[in-house]
Amino acid sequence: MLPDLPFDPSHMLIGGAWVPPGETLTLSNPSTDTPLCQIAKASVADVDTAVHAAEAARDGVWGQETALERGRLLTRLGQLVLEHVDILTTLEALDVGKPVTQARADAVALARYCEFYGGAADKIHGATIPYMDGYTVYTLREPHGVTGHIVPWNYPMQIIGRSVGAALAMGNACVLKPAEDACLTALFFAWLAQKAGLPDGALNVVPGLGREAGAALAVHPGIQHLSFTGSVATGSAVQIAAGANVVPVTLELGGKSPQIVFEDADLDAALPFLVNAGLQNAGQTCSASSRILVHRSRLAEVAERMAEAYRAKRIGAAMEDPDIGPLINARQRSRVEAFFDKAKDLPLIAECVAPDGPGHFVAARLYGPALPGHALAQDEIFGPVQVIIPFDSEDEALKIANGTEYGLVASVWTEKGARQMRLAKALRSGQVFINNYGAGGGVELPFGGVGKSGHGREKGFEALYGFSTLKTVAARHG
Ligand code: NAD
Repeated sequence: MLPDLPFDPSHMLIGGAWVPPGETLTLSNPSTDTPLCQIAKASVADVDTAVHAAEAARDGVWGQETALERGRLLTRLGQLVLEHVDILTTLEALDVGKPVTQARADAVALARYCEFYGGAADKIHGATIPYMDGYTVYTLREPHGVTGHIVPWNYPMQIIGRSVGAALAMGNACVLKPAEDACLTALFFAWLAQKAGLPDGALNVVPGLGREAGAALAVHPGIQHLSFTGSVATGSAVQIAAGANVVPVTLELGGKSPQIVFEDADLDAALPFLVNAGLQNAGQTCSASSRILVHRSRLAEVAERMAEAYRAKRIGAAMEDPDIGPLINARQRSRVEAFFDKAKDLPLIAECVAPDGPGHFVAARLYGPALPGHALAQDEIFGPVQVIIPFDSEDEALKIANGTEYGLVASVWTEKGARQMRLAKALRSGQVFINNYGAGGGVELPFGGVGKSGHGREKGFEALYGFSTLKTVAARHG
């Protein structure tokens, strides 16, 4: 059951007011497939009102706020998030089906984003440029104005932290469209932002359908920057829609991220990363490591040890804090099961059996050896499925690793320093990890992809450049 909330979850936050929508949608618990509550089905008109509320904030109190005060506000918000970690954890576990420990880590990460961007708000600035005699030239780093944030259901808290957190730090006013499958922590975060003293309209939240509210936000002429995380097809549609208004878009679209295990890899160190980077959040992670490339000399050993780890995993309801929770909905389960059909020609190395429904549980499966061109080795599955691909040489490993449409994250397991350096340079990927995977997901580390994984960078200081624009001022004084 849903805990008592200090706001009505069926309402939208627009211009500082919790507003009832014309229509609602039912939010359900993926662990039980039972209804949790009603949420807003924001209309095109609601989105329009939210954008105007953000414009008013941009042109009003929020737009006048100093960087120091924006930073203080975000720092206060981070503290409030920490004070409410328990309820945020419960909401995310019920809403996303995310095991409690993983949901808690996301809540703590949300606080960390607020702290990081709170601290960074007054430390980003323009430059002076040496120029011709008689001129003084400098640059000003300014907010875009109104930013749109379209967020998926898999990591709502982390994605809101990295995009809305950075956008607010730079002084933008935000309109946030959370996913129709999971929006409770977005609403709770907005309520905390009000408590922290964020002026009305600086953050507006309009839950609703992607094809209605999301599409309306993407095409709205009042939006000056869009941040989108989700599928390639939708990201591409959002970019095309925003193109009509010549609006910059940051796209974070997932991947087929490899871990490369060389003959000299420390397997004891690698094993937890090899498995957990694929199974965290039931594999519904843009940076999930779904391809394990293994030097042929270690193939049997890696397969056996990963199989052992798979068999020790437990799948169950999120509130029972299993290793792996349910998938978000029945559609996602069918999508993953379709990949099981496509894998019929592959050896199944290991399986962690799923409990029967009514929750949207699916087995975790490890397949291989597979050829690099197999559908399981090419397509994003977004479920608890990994595939082992053997290789014989460094060149071949690199070719396989770079041989998909994606390029989000890659990791290299080897003790050879020169090889680490060669691969870090040659891998086509937004992030490369050496003898680890993810480095704990630090908020400080710029994140984003190449190819169909998207473009633009969020997280770290880099996000602050993305959520701002640069003005050049040239003063001629003789
Ligand atoms: P999606 O890309 O359709 O949805 C992501 C967000 O975009 C949601 O808030 C949704 O409401 C919104 N949206 C949907 N259609 C829109 C439109 N026309 N205009 C503007 N916004 C729109 O993802 P999904 O349907 O929830 O999941 C489908 C697949 O996407 C998954 O199986 C997975 O492969 C992938 N996915 C990737 C990520 C990621 O982090 N990269 C996250 C979620 C889903």
